[in-house]
Amino acid sequence: MNSRLQGIGMTSMRTRERLIQRLRAGGIRDERVLEAMRQTPRHIFMDEALGSRAYEDTALPIGGGQTISQPYIVALMTQALLKDGPLDKVLEVGTGSGYQTAVLAPLAGRVYSVERIRWLKDQARRRLAELGIQNADLYYSDGGLGLPQRAPFDGILVTAAPHSVPAALVAQLSPEGRMVIPVGPRGNQDLLRIRRDGPGWQEEFLGKVVFVPLMDGLD
Ligand code: SAH
Repeated sequence: MNSRLQGIGMTSMRTRERLIQRLRAGGIRDERVLEAMRQTPRHIFMDEALGSRAYEDTALPIGGGQTISQPYIVALMTQALLKDGPLDKVLEVGTGSGYQTAVLAPLAGRVYSVERIRWLKDQARRRLAELGIQNADLYYSDGGLGLPQRAPFDGILVTAAPHSVPAALVAQLSPEGRMVIPVGPRGNQDLLRIRRDGPGWQEEFLGKVVFVPLMDGLD
């Protein structure tokens, strides 16, 4: 591993390990998720100036009014998505920094991730390449519409909050598929785990969360 990925001081393996212990203490039990997060250098997904805070359990700004999600929430969502077993095809809505994509990649056959801000997508692509991740495909498109050309998906993970569950996304789940998604207005968002149920779906409440809004159309 090169020294930038390895990290030193506040980005060292030891600092990262403290974050993993914190996630464990917070109730994250899935060892596959903890291992993926241990192996993913979060500091390369943000400005170097913020790197010293990369392994704190907080969301941080990534430019364009967007944020890299809090590690605990990344872990919780990934664990909820994987709960019923391994996933072949996964759609992520809201690539942002690319951090969640990097955590998902070793846990899925292939990850498709869509982002509506082009420079964020391009930057994420460079970072994923730097990590040698080859099973993630990034798209510049409106994720509220899903990614019909690659559907159906075994799992869909949404990292920006719509006001209600987008029917287009449910329609792109495979029959056994599940989706983890924050839903609701700013200040009152529910994290939901959704399973298809015939033409409709069932919802499980996972907790209250704070996400940026899912926007309509491209930037
Ligand atoms: N998973 C990201 C979180 C980024 S914040 C990470 O780990 O860093 C949410 C992202 O969703 C932002 O980058 C925002 O631009 C994007 N987004 C918002 N609405 C979208 C839409 N309709 N389609 C695709 N991306 C969207």
